[in-house]
Amino acid sequence: MEGPVLSVRDLTKTFTSGGRPLTVLDGVSFDVAAGATCAIVGPSGSGKTTLLGLAAGLDRPTRGTVRLVGTDLGPLDEDARAALRSRSVGFVFQGFRLLPTLTAAENVAVPLELRGEGGAAATARDLLDRVGLANRAGHYPSQLSGGEQQRVALARAFAGRPALLFADEPTGNLDAETGARVEALLFDLNREAGTALVVVTHDPELAARCERTVSLRGGHVVEDTARPAPDVRPARVA
Ligand code: ADP
Repeated sequence: MEGPVLSVRDLTKTFTSGGRPLTVLDGVSFDVAAGATCAIVGPSGSGKTTLLGLAAGLDRPTRGTVRLVGTDLGPLDEDARAALRSRSVGFVFQGFRLLPTLTAAENVAVPLELRGEGGAAATARDLLDRVGLANRAGHYPSQLSGGEQQRVALARAFAGRPALLFADEPTGNLDAETGARVEALLFDLNREAGTALVVVTHDPELAARCERTVSLRGGHVVEDTARPAPDVRPARVA
């Protein structure tokens, strides 16, 4: 694909709160290049999660456009958005996005089966092994801790090799060791599959590992900094 994997222009979202309009994103524009890593940072309430939801086409903006892997989301209905997401987008969100009625292994196998690949069950088990969850293959999401669910979501992203992965606080609420492991896996996915990462985070170390940091405040981009990568990334956490 030519061009950026994500392009947002003049993105604006106004909610109605207590009968009054509340503009939580106001004219946000930026691009994420194929294979790039981008952190979205900012204080609580600055619009980060709203931005991710709009960029992934889970919600519609009040004004502005989102192009995801070259496709303008504006004219697409919900089914077409879902189809585009299942082809091209991975998610590591707290507390959702795993299918609750499927086991960990079945969740990971979904993208493989969608592509019609043989041996999906065995590949899914290998990927769960890779994220340290071989012994959780038959568990349902409700039987897994938050950190385990994040790692299942990452194993599923490895299976799908999406062009773009959205992660919302992927290391939040995890102990230091699990957080480091999830972080390492995110960058492995970026290196191995060329998956672009768009990561909302409060974690300064995780943000510093991304090539780019977009800072939001009060719904505006107040800073957009790029730094050289990937050769300056710290060594992989074991
Ligand atoms: P962040 O992720 O940076 O903490 P959010 O995007 O979650 O920020 O929220 C930004 C602002 O939008 C907050 O003031 C929040 O209360 C408000 N907000 C988010 N979703 C809704 C909604 N569905 N209805 C009304 N207000 C909302």
